[in-house]
Amino acid sequence: MAEKKKKCLALVAHDRKKTDIVVWANFNRGKLMNFKLVGTKSTANLITEKTGLEVETLLSGPYGGDVQVAAMVAQGEVDAVIFLRDPLGKHPHDPDINTLMRVCDVHNIPLATNLATADLIISQINP
Ligand code: PGA
Repeated sequence: MAEKKKKCLALVAHDRKKTDIVVWANFNRGKLMNFKLVGTKSTANLITEKTGLEVETLLSGPYGGDVQVAAMVAQGEVDAVIFLRDPLGKHPHDPDINTLMRVCDVHNIPLATNLATADLIISQINP
C-alpha cells in the first residue's frame, strides 16, 4: 500500500521571534515529528539545532525564503504556515511578507502570525 503523504508545515520567525519558535517547536516536538517541516534558513537551522527536528531548509527570508514558502502554498504543498512576525520592526522584505500572507488567504491555508494562533493550529491539525 502506498505510504500516506505527510502534511507539511512551514515555519518562519523573524529574529526577535526566533526564541519563541524554538520554544514552541520544542514543546510540540512529539507532534511536529509527524509532519514534513520546511522553513526559512535561519529559522529552520535553529529549530534543527535546538530540537533535533528535521526541517527542510529554504532560502533565508530576506533573500527570498518567504516567497519560496508562498510559492509552495500556491502549489498546494503546504497545509499550514507558522509565521511568527515581529510586529515592532521594519523589514526590508515587507513585500515578500505581504505576499506570503496574501497567498495563504487566497488559498485558504491556516496562517499563524503569533504564538496564540500557532497553539490553536497545532492543537487542531492532524498529520
Ligand atoms: P530566516 O528568515 O529564518 O532566514 O531568518 C525569516 C524572515 O525574516 O522572514
